[in-house]
Order: sequence, then structure tokens, then C-alpha cells
Amino acid sequence: MPASSSGRPAGRPAAGAGRAPRPRAGQSTPSRQSAQPEQLGFDGMPERLFVCTPSKLGAYADCPRRYRYSYVDRPAPPKGPPWAHNSLGASVHNALKNWYALPADRRRPEALAGLLRGTWVRDGFRDDEQERDAYRRALAWLESYVDALDPQADPVGVERVVAVKTAVLAFNGRADRIDSRPGPSGPELVIVDYKTGRAGLDADDARGSQALALYAYAAERVFRRPCRRVELHHLPTGTVAAHEHTAESLARQVTRAEETARDIMAAERAVADGADPDDAFPAEAGPRCGWCDYRRACPTGSQTPGKDPWAAMERRD
Ligand code: SF4
Repeated sequence: MPASSSGRPAGRPAAGAGRAPRPRAGQSTPSRQSAQPEQLGFDGMPERLFVCTPSKLGAYADCPRRYRYSYVDRPAPPKGPPWAHNSLGASVHNALKNWYALPADRRRPEALAGLLRGTWVRDGFRDDEQERDAYRRALAWLESYVDALDPQADPVGVERVVAVKTAVLAFNGRADRIDSRPGPSGPELVIVDYKTGRAGLDADDARGSQALALYAYAAERVFRRPCRRVELHHLPTGTVAAHEHTAESLARQVTRAEETARDIMAAERAVADGADPDDAFPAEAGPRCGWCDYRRACPTGSQTPGKDPWAAMERRD
């Protein structure tokens, strides 16, 4: 799976779900309440915005301890070895980025082998045979994918950073692709996210993706054009899972992201005020621990057997 909205390493290969909600900031358990005094600002003093990306918010939502290891502890604990599925995802994302960087008359399927070779990331594969097999598959996905694209059509953005500020967030993120397509009242933007992992993505995945919603919210403001449609393009199957947001559904996702940001800021304040970092950033152990970059450093997660770096590739065999 893994290369998520941007080819960034995603660690475990499938999104988790079904966890019990954690208390929100200001609704902590009694023991945490005493450890997290509310810090009062001066009247009229603007609150610090929480600078974030989708990965940062997603890390905390998945496991606050993982967030702490990635973004708070310095020096950060050592990570485990690179994952083959992340190498595959990054290679495919970069090949597509470079395909769009070609002049339109050179955007032909024959160009893909060279582009993929040029961007291929070798880390994490079990052996040469598995790596060669992954390369062949990735090339076949790309050839079939670009076959359905209009080589003359330039997206509005490829690996484009969009940024927006809200009352709480200073959000920025890199969208895989932003298309312009005709809408009922003129051109509209569409957020496209490439997926190379697990099959079975559907409209609910597109609807529920906070990252895609935040990209759409930001893109609408950056380009001053409507951006409501988000799409997950699954290269291995050539399928597209799409969702049409409304202004209200985008606003709901922004509110959720702001709530997560407030929780993170409250936890960071608590640590600065002397709380135990293990209490402020609790471990959310689960199957995801086997795929976590910090499993070896994490007393809770290290009790879960780790996955081999190429494990997600074997699940495709
Ligand atoms: S190993 Fe598990 S509990 Fe520990 S940081 Fe990673 S995801 Fe969280």
C-alpha cells in the first residue's frame, strides 16, 4: 500500500480502523487531567497555529506514541529498516511525476521503462528476484494507467504543495495530482491520489480520507476554484474510488483535523509542564505495531512480532 497521498512512507500497509476513541483535550481521564493543566493565554494574544501535514495528523490519530517518536522526541528513536512496499510506492509516484514533466509529445508508454528505472528505489526487497518481479509489475501498472490518460492534458498540479490556514491549523500537503475538469458552472479541480497497495478501495475510503479532504479544502483556496471531488486511483487494478464532497463535509473534516491538532498541542503542553511523556502520548497497540517504524524502540509495540520489510510484497504473490 503504502505510498499514500504522496508517496510518503506510510509504514504499515493498510489503514487501521475500529479503535475506541481517545478522550479529547479537556476531556481527559482524571489522572491525566491533573497531569495536563490548561495553559491560559493573555487576552488578545493569538493562539499559535499548529503546523501540520496529513501524515502528522494521521500519525497521532493512529497512535499518539508513534506521533511522539516521529515529531516530539529529539533525538528521535532509530527507525526500523525501509519497507519494500514504500519503495515500490515511491518509485511509481516518482515515475508518474516525471511522466508529466515530459513534453506532451513524448508522453508515450514506451517512455515509462526508462522513467521507472530512473526513479526505482531498491530498499527493503527480500532479494533480487522479488525486486525484479516488483519492477515488472509496477511497469505493467504504469503502462496500463497511462494508456487511459490524455497525454496532451496537463494537470493543474503534479506533486503540488497546497497550504491553508484555519483558526487552529497551518496546513500544508503535497497532492499527487490536481486535475481541472469541466463542471456545471465552469472548471473544477479534482484531487487525485495514487495507490499501489491493497485492493478493495471504495467510495467510503475516498469519502473518509482526511488527507484528501484537506487537500481539496486547501486547493479550493489556493487556486480560487471549486474543488469538491477526490479520487483514489488504484494502479494495480486500474480502478478509481471517488467521492464528491460538499462545503459542509469538507468543513467537518477540517473541524476533525482541528480537534486532533488541539489534542496534540494539549499533550505537548502537558509534557512541557512536566507530565510523563508516556501518559501524554499513550501507546495504541494493535496489529499496526508489526508495521511500525518505531516498534523496536517502543516497549508496548515491541511485544508484537515485527513484519519483514518485504512482507507486504509477499501478500501480493
Ligand atoms: S509500536 Fe505500536 S504502540 Fe508503539 S509506537 Fe508503534 S504503533 Fe504505537
